Amino acid sequence: MNPLNLKITEKNSNLRKDVFLGSPGELSQEERNILQLFDGATQENWEDWRWQLQNRIRCKEIISRIIELTQEEEEGIDGVGSKLHMSITPYFASLMEKDNIHCPIRKQCIPTSHEMKVSDEEMVDPCGEDSHSPVHGLVHRYPDRVLFLVSEMCAMYCRFCTRSRMVGDSHRTLNTNTYEKAIEYIKSNKQIRDVLISGGDPLMLSNELLEHLVKSIKEIPHVEFLRIGTRVPVTLPQRIDQPLIDVLKKYGPVWMSIHFNHFKEITPRVKVVCDSLADNGIPLGSQTVLLKGINDDPKIIKRLMHELLKVRVKPYYLYQCDPIVGSSHFRTPLSVGIKIMENLCGHTTGYAIPTFVIDTPGGGGKIPVSPNYIVSQENNKYFLRNYEGKQYIHHDPI
Ligand code: SF4
Repeated sequence: MNPLNLKITEKNSNLRKDVFLGSPGELSQEERNILQLFDGATQENWEDWRWQLQNRIRCKEIISRIIELTQEEEEGIDGVGSKLHMSITPYFASLMEKDNIHCPIRKQCIPTSHEMKVSDEEMVDPCGEDSHSPVHGLVHRYPDRVLFLVSEMCAMYCRFCTRSRMVGDSHRTLNTNTYEKAIEYIKSNKQIRDVLISGGDPLMLSNELLEHLVKSIKEIPHVEFLRIGTRVPVTLPQRIDQPLIDVLKKYGPVWMSIHFNHFKEITPRVKVVCDSLADNGIPLGSQTVLLKGINDDPKIIKRLMHELLKVRVKPYYLYQCDPIVGSSHFRTPLSVGIKIMENLCGHTTGYAIPTFVIDTPGGGGKIPVSPNYIVSQENNKYFLRNYEGKQYIHHDPI
């Protein structure tokens, strides 16, 4: 049985069988270790995204059976209170390195006491989304495009989430009523040619509801570009099943922006999922948040970008981490991102180079930041430096 009901292509049939089919022996050792924490659970459960969601790890007792918690983590889990709570799919937990307190997977999903420290520059809504929201659930910051928030729920809650003010399993303000108002707004604003469906995570909705939203937007004549922003292929790859792919394919092209932060997130399962999406005509891009102690190293980012290309995901944005409340332990100086870009530009394939951006505090939108390759200018002459530091002169036409 193929629990995901995925179509098997010649190219990836071996991998697909390894990953999705057969006996529990075919799960990775780490996956089996986690699975046995759930009484009576089987590999079929593991492959079922609903089971993964229902069994998300939310308490200290279970997580401390997987890794030894540090004092900072214990305090973080205890102190998180009504803030963004801990919620980790068993699959994502299986990626944690048991004995590494610096594990990049662990740092993204387990709260620490550092989240309780608030710095002056931090904000609840750093990108000013709420002040650019003409109707609930819709952000209209740039004239020709909108961000359509359709779900407050995610498979896993990232500790640095820029929308931590609104995401969480217990928040429920987005519903069919808000969807219809948002769609009406898009219909009545003819300059909107691009819609990004996001959240929370839109892939937490049922296929039926997602289809209704995608269809409704695709039917608007002036909308020519539709994207879905999601982290589900990384945190809950089981969710990308054939019925979901069929919905996206039916209304294609529907682009997908996937949030990846570390090359360790690109597992054999994730490779299969990206292959399936790409094989079915869904163009893939990535979004990465620059995070201290997780990926703020040129070698890590370069490897992530290379691994993304290998699974047909085009690196799209590298974000400066937004100054949300309690995020100082994740944020890096701007110079770190610039140095990373310096180490990419000219040093690897152009396709592997994302745009480094700051989503400016206060709602100014994204501003690209890059190393400066113009050394000086004199009349029609530009003195430029290349990736090796050698200088060249460009002459503008007079
Ligand atoms: S998946 Fe996205 S929206 Fe959800 S918690 Fe992570 S960053 Fe926030």
